[in-house]
Parts: sequence; C-alpha cells; structure tokens
Amino acid sequence: MEHGGRGGGSPAHASWLELSASALRHNVEAFRALEAATGGGSPRMLGAVLKGNAYGHGLQELLPLVHPLVDVLYLITPQDGLAVRAFERERGLSPRQVLVIGAIAPDEAVALAREGVDAVVADLSWKEAGPVLRAARLERPLRVHVHIDTGLGREGFTLEQLPRDTGFLSEHREVFELVGALSHFSNTEDVTEQGYALAQLEAFETGVSRLVEQLSPARAPQRHIAASAASLVLPRARYDALRVGISLYGLWPSPETRLSARLVLGELPTLKPVLAWRCRSQVVKWLPSGSYVGYGCTYRCSEPTRIAVLPVGYFDGYPRLVSGKAHVLVNGRRCPVLGRVMMNHLIADVTRATADERPVTATLLGHDGDEAVSAEALAGWAQTIHYEVVTRLGAHLRRVVVD
Ligand SMILES: *Cc1c(COP(=O)(O)O)cnc(C)c1O
Repeated sequence: MEHGGRGGGSPAHASWLELSASALRHNVEAFRALEAATGGGSPRMLGAVLKGNAYGHGLQELLPLVHPLVDVLYLITPQDGLAVRAFERERGLSPRQVLVIGAIAPDEAVALAREGVDAVVADLSWKEAGPVLRAARLERPLRVHVHIDTGLGREGFTLEQLPRDTGFLSEHREVFELVGALSHFSNTEDVTEQGYALAQLEAFETGVSRLVEQLSPARAPQRHIAASAASLVLPRARYDALRVGISLYGLWPSPETRLSARLVLGELPTLKPVLAWRCRSQVVKWLPSGSYVGYGCTYRCSEPTRIAVLPVGYFDGYPRLVSGKAHVLVNGRRCPVLGRVMMNHLIADVTRATADERPVTATLLGHDGDEAVSAEALAGWAQTIHYEVVTRLGAHLRRVVVD
C-alpha cells in the first residue's frame, strides 16, 4: 500500500493523522444496532464523548463528522461546549444536546445558560453560581444534570450528601432546571464480573429518586451512567442515554470488555479504529555494520542496515518508553524501531521493507497492507493504556479526513 502523496505532502517533514469517516459511521451504527437488538423499550439517546481533543483525534476535525450521527455531545470544558454552538451557527445546523461534564465557574455557567448548553452540577461550589445566574437575568434557566458519586470517588454528590447538599437547587429554582442525573462507573472495564457496577447502579437509582423527590422536576430527569464498556456489557445500565467515548473511535475499552461482550451479547460487534498515524521519511540511508543508532548508543547494527529517519518523536506523542520494543510499518512490513525514540525523530530499520534509498511512508498506528499497529499494541509497549496513547497525540499534528 502506497501512501505517497496522500495527505502527506506539505510540510514535507511532519507526520499526520488520518481520520476515517466510514469507520466512525460504522462504529455509530454498531451502537445503534446493539440498542435495536438487545435494548427494547424506547430508543435511547446515543452520545459521543469528545473530551481530550476528541481522544486525540482532533475536536475540530471530528466535530463535523460526528455531529450528524449522534444525539448528544459531551465535552469537558465550557469553552468546548460553546465552540460546538458556534460551529452549529456557522454551518446552519440544528443544535444538538450539548453537555459540559467538567468543572464550570459561575461566569461560565451564565454563558452556557445563554447558549442552551447543559451543565453538570457535581459539588457544593455550585452554590455560588445561583446568585450569579440570578444577577444575569437569564431568559431561560441553566439546564443541569446532577452528578451522583456512586463509588468512583471522583466528582459528584455521594448518597451521604443527597439530598442534604442539593437544597440550593430548589432555592434557586428559577435559574437551575433539573434535566438529568448521571454517574460514572469505577471498573466496568477492568473486570468480567460486575458486582461493583451493580452496587453503583443501586446507588444511582437511590440518588435519582432522592433528587426527584427533592426537586420535583416537570419531566423525569434524563438518566445516564453508561460509558463504552457498560453500554456494551451491562444492558441494565443503558437508561436514557449512552456516553460513548473510546469505542466510537473504534477501540475496545479493554480485553476484559471484549470477553464480557462476547458472553453478554453472544456475537461480538466489530469496531473499526478511526485513526491512523503516518509519517514520511526525512532520509533513508545505509549504515555500515557496527554503527550505533540514536542517543546513548543503545543500539548497534550487527550488519549493514538501511535506516529510515522519521521526523516524529515523543514531542508528537510517540511514547519514548517504546524504545527497543516498537515497530512501524513500511510497505506492509514490520520495521523495528532502533535505539531510543527522540524528541523529534525515530529511526526504523527498513532494510527489507524497501529496495532503495528513496523516501518511504511509515505507519506508526493503523493498517498497512496485511499488517497493523494498534493503539493497544503501542500502549502495551509503552506500559500504559491506549486511552493515554491516543489522547496524548499532539494537538499540533495535521489531521486529514479520509473515507
Ligand atoms: C471519559 C468518560 C466517558 C467515556 O468513557 P469511555 O470509556 O471512553 O467510553 C463517559 N462519561 C464520563 C463521565 C467520562 O469521564
């Protein structure tokens, strides 16, 4: 497979990311089909989690692709939530439900209320936002979802705090409209046995009923707790909306989730990775036998070796910890990464992958011919998880949409 001019080109010495629009559509369809096959009842909302620069895929590039496909968009910062509204206005699109799941300051809450972006109320600091929202003389209240900490020990009101600490929402009823309640699982993806998750579900239901009793909202709040793993393996957790992150990008949350999904669903849905990462070589050249490669002289050529110097390194998000373990793909062949990964360079052994010293295109992540490097493989070499590998891909990298 030749990736020559495709997406590469200028600037010549840089790597780029390819986003597959068809893979994204496929993954969305897989979640819709899952719902149709095993869901029953009323159709649930399918939401896309776009935090972490859309899991490193690039929020700006991904938003136009994902916006038409899903019902809800989840962002971590108020700025990103407002950016979605700006994007919709610019393109004349009808607004989606947008929800900011991260921390929000009182003045930011005012901006969200004005733009009809939903906010997650997750702690007592929100008491201060009440008077600020009142002073802003809003035309409509801020739409809020209350986060219930059911056992993750991160944001949200614990059952201890409910309903004691959410009384301010009823005191400032004209500026806070309860439209949802959410929680987040602690280890659905780390286990094949869901005892802890079931306890979290019980706590969630208790918390929701306390909120409803306290605030008696006009409509039943939208309940959502399932991220990718629970959406796949815990049908009971699907409630009214799914907050799917990693799997919309075509990656399984973990091997355990795959195992559980096979048991729970019978048939394993296919997920297609949306992302590929490629790099044009800076130079291809021969090194004589006995030459050292890279900082620290950690690698020595035991025979004449044709190397490709690739202008990509840990600055771009290629983990230095993979030194001595990783391979890249050139012309559909595995090429070991030699020596240490550097800030802006890595060296691959292309002796058998190419016949001469003309430039090559290397695939750091993704398919090339019959071979592939998965985000899981790269994460394994780097002793971390694929979530971290993809979200750390440099925001500066060029992102190209392909079919
Ligand atoms: C990150 C996150 C998700 C998505 O998790 P995935 O495992 O990537 O699907 C959903 N909800 C919340 C609150 C999150 O922080």
